[in-house]
Amino acid sequence: MAITLDTKIEQLSRVGKAAASRLHRLGLRTVADLLRHYPSRYNDYGSILPIARLQPGATATVRGRIEVIANRRSPRRQWLLTEAVIADGSGAITAVWFHQPYLTRVFTPGSEVFLSGQVSDEFRQLQFISPEIELCKSFPLHTARLVPVYPTTEGLGQRQLRISVQQALPAAREAPDILPLELRRRRDLPSLAWALPQVHFPQDHAHLRRALRRLKFDELFLLQVILQRARRQLQQARAQPIPFQAEATKRFVAGLGFTLTVDQRKAAWRILQDLSRSSPMNRLLEGEVGSGKTVVVAIAALNAALAGGQTAVLAPTEILAEQHFRTFSQLFGDWPMQLALLTRSRKVVRRAGEPAAATKREVVEGIRRGELQLVVGTHALLQEQVAWRQLTLAVVDEQHRFGVEQRQRLSAAAAANPHFLSLTATPIPRSLALTLYGDLAISTIRQLPRERKPIVTQLVTPPERPKLHQFIRQQVAAGRQVFVVCPLIDPSDFLGVRAATVERDHLQREVFPDVAVGLLHGQLSGSAKAETMAAFLRREFPILVTTTVVEVGVDVPNATTILIEGAERFGLSQLHQLRGRVGRSAHQSYCFLCTDAAEGETYERLAAFLKAKDGFSIAELDLRYRGPGQVVGSEQSGFFGLKLASLADLELAQEARAAAASLLQEDPSLSRHPQLARETLASAEGAHLE
Ligand code: ADP
Ligand code: MG
Repeated sequence: MAITLDTKIEQLSRVGKAAASRLHRLGLRTVADLLRHYPSRYNDYGSILPIARLQPGATATVRGRIEVIANRRSPRRQWLLTEAVIADGSGAITAVWFHQPYLTRVFTPGSEVFLSGQVSDEFRQLQFISPEIELCKSFPLHTARLVPVYPTTEGLGQRQLRISVQQALPAAREAPDILPLELRRRRDLPSLAWALPQVHFPQDHAHLRRALRRLKFDELFLLQVILQRARRQLQQARAQPIPFQAEATKRFVAGLGFTLTVDQRKAAWRILQDLSRSSPMNRLLEGEVGSGKTVVVAIAALNAALAGGQTAVLAPTEILAEQHFRTFSQLFGDWPMQLALLTRSRKVVRRAGEPAAATKREVVEGIRRGELQLVVGTHALLQEQVAWRQLTLAVVDEQHRFGVEQRQRLSAAAAANPHFLSLTATPIPRSLALTLYGDLAISTIRQLPRERKPIVTQLVTPPERPKLHQFIRQQVAAGRQVFVVCPLIDPSDFLGVRAATVERDHLQREVFPDVAVGLLHGQLSGSAKAETMAAFLRREFPILVTTTVVEVGVDVPNATTILIEGAERFGLSQLHQLRGRVGRSAHQSYCFLCTDAAEGETYERLAAFLKAKDGFSIAELDLRYRGPGQVVGSEQSGFFGLKLASLADLELAQEARAAAASLLQEDPSLSRHPQLARETLASAEGAHLE
C-alpha cells in the first residue's frame, strides 16, 4: 500500500485496534498527524562501544550476539526475569529484564542484537538492567541512534509510537512546503521533506539541529506572517481621530480622589496623542499589577465618548469583566457616561447613576444606536449580532488570551477601524514583546500608587503551618480577608479544581471550623463565579480558597493575605501575579509561599523571588530559571501555534520576522504563495480556540 499524508493510521501495518484508539486519543488520525507528532526528547544511544570498554554508569549501546537467553523466577520475590548474555569480539555482558517473558520468543541464541541503556554495577558486575533491545539492522528505531521519545498517553508505548511514525516517513516527501525555495536557499534551511524524517529519527546531533531549526523557523515565520499582515491592514487603515479634550480630562482627573502617578500621566498623555491621529493606535500598556491601568483607560474612553465615539473593553474572564465594570462605574461617578456590561451570564446597563440589570437585546441595541459609550465584556462582545454605531476605541485586557483574529472581528463589527489598546500586567522584556506583537508602541507604568506598602513575602515550610494559621486568624479577627490559592496537582485536573475543593473542605472542617470558607474555581458557571467574587467583595466570608482563576486583575482591596499552596509549581511571574491580589489598599499585606520542597534550585528560585523588587526583575529571573516560555506563560506558546519553537528562539524569531517582511513586501496578498496562504488561515483560526 502506498502511504500518503491522508492515510488513516489504522491502515498502517503493526497498528492494531487498541493502538489506533490510543493514537486517536493523542489527536493522531492520519499519517500527516503522525509526522507532526514531534518527539519531546531523545535518548542518546548513538555511541556503539566494544563490551570491554563499558564503564559503570555510562549510557551506551553494544552490538553483539546472544549467547544464552532464558526466563526464570527470582527465588525470593518470584519476579519473572529474562536474562541474557551478549558477547562481541571484546567480551561479554549480561542483561536482565522484568516481566517480559515474550522476549525469548523474538530474541534467540545466535541473534545479532543492539542493546542500549545505562550500564549498572549494582550487583558487583557490569550489566544492563532493562535495556532496549533490537535485532541488528541498518535502520534501528529503538537503539543505536538518537532515539525519539514522544509525548504519549496511557497504554501507548514508545516502541509502538516509533513503529507507527516510521511507517509515516515516506509521506514526508509530499508534505507541502510553505517556504519558497529562494528563501530556503538564502537562509540555508533544508526542505521540509528532509527535515520531517530527521526530526523523528535523526542521523546525528548536527542533522537534528538542522531539522529543528527548519521546523521552528516554519512556526515562527507563520506567526510573523499572520502578525505582519494584521499590522499592514491596520497601517493602511484610517481611524476616526479623537481630539484631546483638555478641560474635561482635567476635571475628570481632579475628581478622582487620588493623584495620578507620573507614569499614569505619561501613559495617558501618549495614548491621547495617538488617539488624535487619523491612523489607528496600536499600543501596549504594560504595568505592574495594581499600578492603575484602568483609570488610564477611563481617561481614553472619556475622550472617545466626548468625541461621540464608543469604547469596547474586552476582558478574558467574566470575573475581570465584572470588576472592570465596577471600577469604571466608580471612576465615572456622576459623569454622564452610559456604561454597560455584557457577558454570557450577566448584562447590566448604567446610565449616569445606579446600574440596572438589562437584557442582551437592550445592550446590543444600545451599542447599535450608539447610546452606550463604554461597554465591558468577554467573548460575548465579539459575536456577530453586535454592530457598533461608532466604535472608536477597543481595549483588550491581558491581550495574549485573544487571537489576532478576534481583534480583526472587532474591527469588522465596527464601521471604521477602532484605535487599539492592549493591557498587560505581565512585564515582557522589550525584545520579546517586539517579536511577539510586532512593532507596536509600548507604554509602561512602573510605579505603584504612593500609599502602598510593600507586601511582606515569606516562605512557609510544613512545621511552620500552625503559626501561619494563627496569623490568618488574627487577620480575619481584624476584619481582613484571605486568599488561599491551590495549584494544579494532577495534569488531568487541568484547572486545579480537585486540589482547591479538597483544601477548602480541609480548612473548613479542621482548621477554621468557626469561620466561613468560600470556594472559587474555573469549573463553576460564569454566574456562580461572579456571585462568589461579589460575595467575597461584600465580605460575606473572610477566606476564599481558589485556583489560579484569581490570577489576573482581581481587585479586592480588603484582602490582605494570600497563601499560595505548592508555590514551587508556579512560575515566578505567575507568583507575582497572584501576590498582586493583595496589597491593594493602605493595609499592610502578606504573601505566604507554602512549599514542601524547599531545597536546591527550587529554594534558590523562591528565595530570589523574595528579594526581587518588581515584576520586571521577576520576569528576568523566570527567564534565567525557566526559560522565556515561562515569562509569557507556556499556554501562550501553544496559543501562538508554537510546538517546537519557544520564545527562547529569539534570533531565529528575528530572522523569521525579516523573512516574513520581505515576502509580504513582494506579495502582500500571498497570491503567489497559496500554501502559505492556506496555512496562515488555518493557524489564525486555531489561534482563537482558547
Ligand atoms: P491594574 O493596573 O492592576 O489593572 P487597577 O487599575 O485595577 O490596577 O487599580 C488598582 C486600584 O488602585 C484601583 O482600586 C484603583 O482605583 C486604584 N488606583 C489607581 N491609580 C491610583 C493612584 N494613582 N493612587 C491611588 N490609587 C490608585
Ligand atoms: Mg487590571
